[in-house]
Amino acid sequence: SVCWHGRQKRLFSTTKRRMTIMPAWVIDKYGGNDVLRFTKNASFPVITYPNEVIIKVNAAGLNPIDVGMRGGYGASSLSMKRDPLNLKQNGMEFPLILGRDLSGVIMECGLDVKYFTERDEVWAAIPPWKQGSLAEFVVLSANEISRKPKLLSHREAAAIPYVAATSWSALVNTGGLSKDNCAKKRILILGGSGGVGTFAIQMLKAWGAHVTVTCSQNAERFVRDLGADHVVDYTSGPVEKPLRELEKFDLILDNVGGETERWALTLLKPWSGAKYVTLVTPFLQNTDLLGIADGMMQTAATVATKALKHLVKGVHYRWGFFAPSGPALDEISEMVDAGQIRAVVEETFSFSQVPHAFEKMEKGHARGKTVVQMS
Ligand code: NDP
Repeated sequence: SVCWHGRQKRLFSTTKRRMTIMPAWVIDKYGGNDVLRFTKNASFPVITYPNEVIIKVNAAGLNPIDVGMRGGYGASSLSMKRDPLNLKQNGMEFPLILGRDLSGVIMECGLDVKYFTERDEVWAAIPPWKQGSLAEFVVLSANEISRKPKLLSHREAAAIPYVAATSWSALVNTGGLSKDNCAKKRILILGGSGGVGTFAIQMLKAWGAHVTVTCSQNAERFVRDLGADHVVDYTSGPVEKPLRELEKFDLILDNVGGETERWALTLLKPWSGAKYVTLVTPFLQNTDLLGIADGMMQTAATVATKALKHLVKGVHYRWGFFAPSGPALDEISEMVDAGQIRAVVEETFSFSQVPHAFEKMEKGHARGKTVVQMS
């Protein structure tokens, strides 16, 4: 470790000499789009742990959580994650850099990084408690990154990691699906036309599942082109009615939330291990509203009650969450290069147009992903 510190000092000093500031979009307080500020003087990221890498960002992807975080969503729990001992004052997260997806090139590796080297082209989904990709450089752990698919440009690659890592976490880790057990499964995706939906359809189809999707009528062609076997329009009346007429499902991935919980679980095959996994959870809202301890208690109580309520009817109720994972991205990278999954970029903005990209995200009705191209 003595050696590491010696080397680390040198690394720091050269980094410092080379660069101390970089261009980025930052926020200095939570609010509407007007809090987004471009600066050429954001702090250059530094390698603090030997397993970290510094990546030059070529393209960044946006997700609904960026709009949420701009407005303060998750602020208290994310601050706790950034500063677990609560040593810093309130507001120490600022200037905060948003942007959860990146595709780029490794500029520098910490001493313990074995699997990657400088100049490797990589992609990553950045955990919400770390500084984001709307900047020229980002520091991440090597276990959070993965080699970018060769078939994709950086712009296309930036459309995948966050929704892919979320789908993986929800469908594989929480839902128990894998490429080997999907062949006879019937899956329902509530909300198929957005970022998560367009990715999840393709992954499940590549694994041989039968995929039913709900979306707006004008997105039907779009989701069918991605592989959806059956499409139900939610805009022409209560969507649960046509869904009830279908054969029951083995797993439901809910990207919509709210009302859906009231009826969706009745669409599952009972007593067969069938699961409902929702991505729309009150976890961060609870901690924002009630504080960390009470929020977590409230959250645990809610999910336990709901899980029990449904378990007695023979179906499983679960919450799904984004989880950073380089290894999951490695597998997805292979699927992309095998032609099984493509990037669905709805709109691309230049780095100077970041506020326009947020405006677009705020309008909703996504058909795939919004990407920011750095240069
Ligand atoms: P997007 O904004 O990319 O997509 C949402 C899609 O849902 C849009 O295409 C929208 O199109 C469609 N939609 C809206 N209402 C309905 C409805 N009632 N029925 C069917 N489709 C509908 O979001 P993402 O795909 O990126 O994320 C989906 C949800 O999952 C978000 O709420 C997000 O916050 C959450 N999420 C949670 C994570 C976690 O860790 N728990 C991680 C990632 C996402 P249109 O309105 O035109 O129909």
